[in-house]
Amino acid sequence: MTTLWSYSDFDAHEAVHFVTDANSGLRAIIALHSTHLGPAAGGTRMWHYADDEDALIDALRLSRGMSYKNAMAGLPLGGGKAVILADRERTKSPQMLAAFGKAINRLGGNYVTAEDVGMSVADMIAVREQTRFVAGLPVSGGEVGGDPGPHTSLGVFLGIKAAVRRALGKDSLAKLHIGLQGAGSVAGGVARLAAAEGARLSIADVDAARAHALAAQTDGDVVPADTFLTLECDVMSPCALGAILTEVTIAQLNTPIVAGGANNQLATPQDGGRLAARNILYAPDYVINAGGIINVSTEFLDDGDASLVRQRIDAIPDRLERIWTEAAATGTNPAAVADAMAQKLIGR
Ligand code: NAD
Repeated sequence: MTTLWSYSDFDAHEAVHFVTDANSGLRAIIALHSTHLGPAAGGTRMWHYADDEDALIDALRLSRGMSYKNAMAGLPLGGGKAVILADRERTKSPQMLAAFGKAINRLGGNYVTAEDVGMSVADMIAVREQTRFVAGLPVSGGEVGGDPGPHTSLGVFLGIKAAVRRALGKDSLAKLHIGLQGAGSVAGGVARLAAAEGARLSIADVDAARAHALAAQTDGDVVPADTFLTLECDVMSPCALGAILTEVTIAQLNTPIVAGGANNQLATPQDGGRLAARNILYAPDYVINAGGIINVSTEFLDDGDASLVRQRIDAIPDRLERIWTEAAATGTNPAAVADAMAQKLIGR
């Protein structure tokens, strides 16, 4: 019998909640990896999974990633994540969101949610009707809150610049070729910031219309999603889904830098070593993509204003530098260095 405890992605998660609401058809998994540093915080993903096991593995991996991300960003938050198991059309209803909000509320503040793939600001407003343990809500002038996407994009953009400085010795992205996987919220913000600095963009999305729309906005090219990882470019920025860097795809990469916003880019811990062995500079995903949770945290904890959020996001490149420097000094790879730092912070 396969039990939760026997999954390789089970990492002594404190709790994993399976949620069902027969009336609305809601099926969700809320995984709390660690509350060592504070309430487990991390967004909700709504996705159509090929099977239930994929959803569970996603929740386990994403929630552990949130523990590491929040710890490394210096936030007083633990790590958690919710996944809603959607049908093929990703049908969402007010009843479903209400049932989901009630499920979060039953956790009594041990889990705090916000947007992730497939969930919008409007969805968070609906969830907020049932629980106060939610962030990413709209705000009026000067207040901190709203869609975390643009803040994530800013951090990723600054992280790409740090990687370019380190690996290519350049202070600007002008004329550099950046490959973006995804044309959604995070990729869109990165694309606009990079294009404004003069970068040349190649954009791939399984939703071709999205890729074309972003390319039109940023004077970029659309490239096929299925061969994206072989693209020759100066920076490859994965901003779609996770587990894309595998033994097979890493061997095919044609870039000196991988720096993007997607969570859980490495399929296995060994893949960090594989990137380093190919002399590809990797920005650990949960360090470079912390901008959104930094904003969410400041909103939820009400412990700062927009300029403090900006200061906290501006610290991301320095954090990456520290990781790369330690990796170079110790002959370890950046992913392993970041994991060790994060584990120490969360007492593992
Ligand atoms: P989004 O839903 O706005 O965009 C994701 C895009 O990726 C969609 O357009 C989708 O069609 C595309 N996509 C899916 N599979 C693909 C594939 N194989 N190849 C190319 N494109 C593909 O989501 P988002 O908010 O931009 O998030 C993107 C990634 O960044 C996710 O991994 C998410 O967990 C991570 N992330 C997001 C935030 C945030 O603030 N939104 C914060 C941290 C991390």
